Amino acid sequence: MGKGLLFVVSGPSGAGKGTICKSLLDEIDIDLSVSMTTRNPRPGEIEGVNYYFVSQKEFDNIKKEDGLLEYAYVYGNYYGTPKKMVMDKLEQGRDVILEIDIQGALKIRDTYPKGIFVFILPPSMKELRKRITGRGSETEASINMRLGEALKEVSYIDKYDYCVINNEVAEAVERVACIMKAEHSRVSQDIYQIIERYKEEI
Ligand code: 5GP
Repeated sequence: MGKGLLFVVSGPSGAGKGTICKSLLDEIDIDLSVSMTTRNPRPGEIEGVNYYFVSQKEFDNIKKEDGLLEYAYVYGNYYGTPKKMVMDKLEQGRDVILEIDIQGALKIRDTYPKGIFVFILPPSMKELRKRITGRGSETEASINMRLGEALKEVSYIDKYDYCVINNEVAEAVERVACIMKAEHSRVSQDIYQIIERYKEEI
């Protein structure tokens, strides 16, 4: 059995990557990696479902033990992808999605170039402002900071394989699902094993 595929989905805060990734789980057979973070849980967030909420000391220890595939400092908190969980799943042939920020995605590109990188864009900066404001959890200063960051982040789009504009969630989910299906039809090393089998069957 071939290894699973690693999909890295990122994009500016408020572009809707979280919503898209969650909806994808209902559409296709794929696992979403649960990250570790030092930030406090928001109301309704569940340990082990949204994140593993850890102290700074715990995070530092895991980092020291090489337990993270990547990590980044995002808006005042550390976030990281647990390495073993992801690598075990890929080894078992499961596809995995990482919903992470751009710094993290760039690190994965260096360490796991076989990953497939998908960038989610908002339809416009005006819409992005509306979405971030709508969360109700950000101050005006933090909204402006996130919009400024979003512009910087968009400049890394050429490091990605695909880009999906999130105009309408269902449409964007469908597009990402199509990318994931198409990637399974890519001519890869696995295909040569199949061809070898054909030869034996003649
Ligand atoms: P939030 O605090 O809103 O849940 O997430 C803030 C940002 O951190 C989002 O852009 C999210 O994609 C990113 N993030 C979540 N988990 C990880 C992770 O494991 N690694 C990295 N690099 N970013 C992450």
